[in-house]
Amino acid sequence: MNSVALLATLMAVQGQALQLGQPHEAGLTSIDVTWNERRIPYVRVADRWMTVIGIDLDTDEGNYPIEVSLRYADGRVATRTDLVRVQSQRFPTTELTVAPQYVNLSPEDQERAARESRQINAIYSTLTPEAYWLQPFQVPIPGTTGGRNFGHRRVFNGESRAPHSGADLSAVTGTEILAVNAGRIVLAKNLFFSGNAVFIDHGLGVYSTYLHLSEMFVEPGTMVEQGQVIGLAGATGRVTGPHLHWGVRVLSARVDPFSLLSLGGDSTP
Ligand SMILES: [Zn+2]
Repeated sequence: MNSVALLATLMAVQGQALQLGQPHEAGLTSIDVTWNERRIPYVRVADRWMTVIGIDLDTDEGNYPIEVSLRYADGRVATRTDLVRVQSQRFPTTELTVAPQYVNLSPEDQERAARESRQINAIYSTLTPEAYWLQPFQVPIPGTTGGRNFGHRRVFNGESRAPHSGADLSAVTGTEILAVNAGRIVLAKNLFFSGNAVFIDHGLGVYSTYLHLSEMFVEPGTMVEQGQVIGLAGATGRVTGPHLHWGVRVLSARVDPFSLLSLGGDSTP
């Protein structure tokens, strides 16, 4: 069969989780895509193949080649290069006031924060080559309000710090926090900046995080169902008050958690 490879252009914005997919065809045994120098496998769900890439919030505006390789049972390998066109977003600046020890760290806290940062980066760079989810993602607090502060540039007590890599959802202490989809708990512990933090690996490099909790109900290594209560909202770590910080990473790329809601699970177009 001869096929004409048409260059496809995928539109994306900074800080977006982007689902890639295509129909199954006879003899096709695997697909992967190279994005940000990582090879990311597709998974087959019924008669489709799909995977997810993340456009980090600091990705420059422009066109990025994305190479897709298809392998067939007869040994054939077909490759094609699509383009991802990344458009910039305007991220506002937020000024915040927190307890001074979270801005000017003691040597001990600096060491602790650096150690935790290394541990977290190791988690985010780990690719589980399967998807644990079959349903579309949902929000961790049903009927939630707020949470539109992803990517905001932040100034803590007058000092610039990293942009906001998640969405802050309004929640009083004790609000039940639900797993946004099925996955494996990869971290559930107290962190310097994040307070009590739960991280879920959903597979294919997709991670969701739930920070500043007052209580954690899950253990690392265990599987959770979508909608399972994993903890209670609180005000632990670097906060101005009780809320849920909901974060999503796609292989280290910081993406807006709300962009995950448009991923379709097994019923993608
Ligand atoms: Zn936050």
